[in-house]
Amino acid sequence: MKNYYLEDEQATVEFGECLAQTVKNDIEIGIVVYLNGDLGAGKTTLTRGFVRGMGHKGNVKSPTYTLVEPYELEQWQVYHFDLYRLADPEELEFMGIRDYFSSDCCSFIEWPEKGAGLLAKADLIINIAYDNEQRVLSINQESTLGQQVLQAFSERYQGKEV
Ligand code: ADP
Ligand code: MG
Repeated sequence: MKNYYLEDEQATVEFGECLAQTVKNDIEIGIVVYLNGDLGAGKTTLTRGFVRGMGHKGNVKSPTYTLVEPYELEQWQVYHFDLYRLADPEELEFMGIRDYFSSDCCSFIEWPEKGAGLLAKADLIINIAYDNEQRVLSINQESTLGQQVLQAFSERYQGKEV
C-alpha cells in the first residue's frame, strides 16, 4: 500500500496520467482498478487523467447515466464505469460485462461494490479521501500484476508520498 497527497485537481489528473504511462511503457497489460471515495472525491478526475494519458484527445465525461464509457484507442481499450446508479447487478450481465475484461483492456470502476460478484477482480484498489480542500489517495495492490504496477508507478511518480 502507498499513500499520496493530492494538492489540487491537477495533481489528481497527473496521478492518473502517470498510471497510464506505467501501464503503457512498463507493464503493457491491461489492469482493473476499483475507485472508492465519496461523491466529489476525484474518482472521475483521476480516470480522466488516465484516459488522456493512454492517448485519448477528446472529452472525458462521467458515465453516471450510461454506466460505462468506452474509449477505443490505438492499442488499448479503456472502460470507465460508474455504477452509482446501478439498480440491479443483472444490468451488468445484459451489458455483456465479461467482454470488458481482457488483457488489452483497462477498466476503471467507480462504486464497484454495486457490481459485487459480477466484476473482474481488482488489480489495484484506490481510495480517495477528503483532507479539507485537498485529497489523500491510498493505493493497494490486489494481485501480482497490481503489485508490479504499483512498484513501477512509485518509481515513476514525482508527486508527494505521505
Ligand atoms: P467523483 O468522481 O469522485 O465523484 P469528480 O472527479 O467528479 O469526483 O469531482 C471532483 C471535484 O473535486 C471536482 O470538482 C474537482 O475540481 C474538485 N477537487 C478539488 N481538489 C481536488 C483534488 N485534489 N483532486 C480531485 N478533485 C479535486
Ligand atoms: Mg465520478
